Amino acid sequence: MKNDQNDSKLAIIKDFIRAIIDQDLEANKNQGRVHTRFPPEPNGYLHIGHAKSICLNFGLAAEYRGLCNLRFDDTNPIKEEMEYVESIKQDIRWLGFDWEDRLFFASDYFETLYAYAVQLVRKGKAYVCDLSADEIREYRGTLTEPGKNSPYRDRSVEENGDLLERMRNGEFPDGSRTLRAKIDMASPNLNMRDPVMYRILRATHHRTGDEWCLYPTYDWAHGQSDSIEGITHSICTLEFEDHRPLYNWFLEQLAVHHPQQIEFARLNLTYTVMSKRKLLQLVEEGHVSGWDDPRMPTISGLRKRGYTPESIRNFCDRIGLAKRESTVDIALLEHCLREDLNKNAPRVMAVLRPLRVIIDNYPESQVEMLDAENNPEDPSAGSRKIPFCHELYIEQDDFREDPPKKFFRLAPGREVRLKHAYYIKCEKVIKDSQTGEIVRLHCTYDPETKGGWSKDGRMVRGTLHWVSVPQAIPAEVRLYDHLFLREDPTDEEGGDWLTALNPKSLEILHPCQVEPSLADAKPGDRYQFLRKGYFCKDSGDSSPGKPVFNRTATLRDTWARIEKAQKKKSS
Ligand code: ATP
Ligand code: MG
Repeated sequence: MKNDQNDSKLAIIKDFIRAIIDQDLEANKNQGRVHTRFPPEPNGYLHIGHAKSICLNFGLAAEYRGLCNLRFDDTNPIKEEMEYVESIKQDIRWLGFDWEDRLFFASDYFETLYAYAVQLVRKGKAYVCDLSADEIREYRGTLTEPGKNSPYRDRSVEENGDLLERMRNGEFPDGSRTLRAKIDMASPNLNMRDPVMYRILRATHHRTGDEWCLYPTYDWAHGQSDSIEGITHSICTLEFEDHRPLYNWFLEQLAVHHPQQIEFARLNLTYTVMSKRKLLQLVEEGHVSGWDDPRMPTISGLRKRGYTPESIRNFCDRIGLAKRESTVDIALLEHCLREDLNKNAPRVMAVLRPLRVIIDNYPESQVEMLDAENNPEDPSAGSRKIPFCHELYIEQDDFREDPPKKFFRLAPGREVRLKHAYYIKCEKVIKDSQTGEIVRLHCTYDPETKGGWSKDGRMVRGTLHWVSVPQAIPAEVRLYDHLFLREDPTDEEGGDWLTALNPKSLEILHPCQVEPSLADAKPGDRYQFLRKGYFCKDSGDSSPGKPVFNRTATLRDTWARIEKAQKKKSS
């Protein structure tokens, strides 16, 4: 369902999270402080869903003159790597946010967390359990059946204290024992049925090395880390709603600073998978070129594709916040991008599938520099000079030997405008005698139409983009489409989500011909190729003499159309 987008403007004004914060401020809770955090687990690259959480957490801090920490939730040594830590930092900075000196790691708190656990043991609120992982699951019961108490539940405080210490000292094998909170095995909430706090695991941690063979669970580490950092509002996604009673229980038992956990619905996008596990699979199985493949919903993929940080922030604002799951139309993300690029991307000319045109009546040795505006949306962007001469490239599909009705571009005997240049008329078509393929056109130009306007008021219906042959720069152009064919690639009826992969999500064109001003393009620079879409010079794959341009977006704004249709319907 694509809901919640029409009233997104309202959502910006007052969503439920801002309402809670306002109330807290009014009641002078936390002495009027607002302190949030963004807590990624360094086990993958950030994606557009994380961007929503980043914009929210850092955005709230900025709005309320508060602070936002970056905290890596690095409690699982098996899946975590420094590579991910670095990419996450880079992506957050690129999005335009700054944690200043507040970069933290849950692993910084391992010692404190352990001391807290000892406190709970002393209070009789935690115990060492010898059940295996499978047995713990068995004893836990189900949603409809209460669990059973572990036979180790009533160990004495002394025995628990002694065992916990020996667990830490590495006296027991992996998986042989756990530390569990002593809550209620009959609780209707499964999270409250004596959840595991520590497991024994010999694994090298990317920061603490081999110092620990006990690792805290997410539930045990998260709330306490929030508390240690003085977080006031701990914002997370809906799947943690059922964990909130446990979050609160730990903090109450420890009687420490108590942040408030607030849940919101995670972002889902059409034609996209968002789970890190699935994204990792796409990378590992080579369905994409890497985490930063321009078809990936990762921040690094969007960056390589040519997305601007502004457009992503704007998108995150517009989708607003909800308490129930929904899927946002990817067309809205693309719309936010086009809005930004339309304002800011300089216009240039590039011919993606070149067809040679000889201007028979233009002197062979002559080159003329013509004025071309850089952005009709922004007069301050100025203009540049583009060369015009005897030989040009136009787009193959801008010519039809046998034009159908409503084809207003070039055809034998027909006149069209070349953007910024002259009217030209097609006089002759030259074909390959073997294949019948059109190899070039012979045209004439009208010198009285300089700039693309006829003095006698003669009208033409088509305006084509073009590039002058001798000065053109050959380039590779990569056209991207949605990575998946189905709106919801993971829907059950559709079967295996990988069958939804779009086999035509990448088309490589080479050689394309781009105008000479693009010789100065720097990696990451964005342009509108007239009539062709928005493109971005690739940062990794371009080499001197062979630039690569990624298509960031086509010019067709489906979201604007949807909006227009909706307005029409409602009026
Ligand atoms: P994992 O399954 O590995 O836990 P995750 O997507 O939850 O994956 P985290 O690194 O734990 O990844 O996420 C960091 C923060 O980003 C969390 O607060 C999480 O709630 C939030 N987040 C993750 N995915 C989304 C999403 N699709 N929309 C909004 N927020 C998200
Ligand atoms: Mg998570």
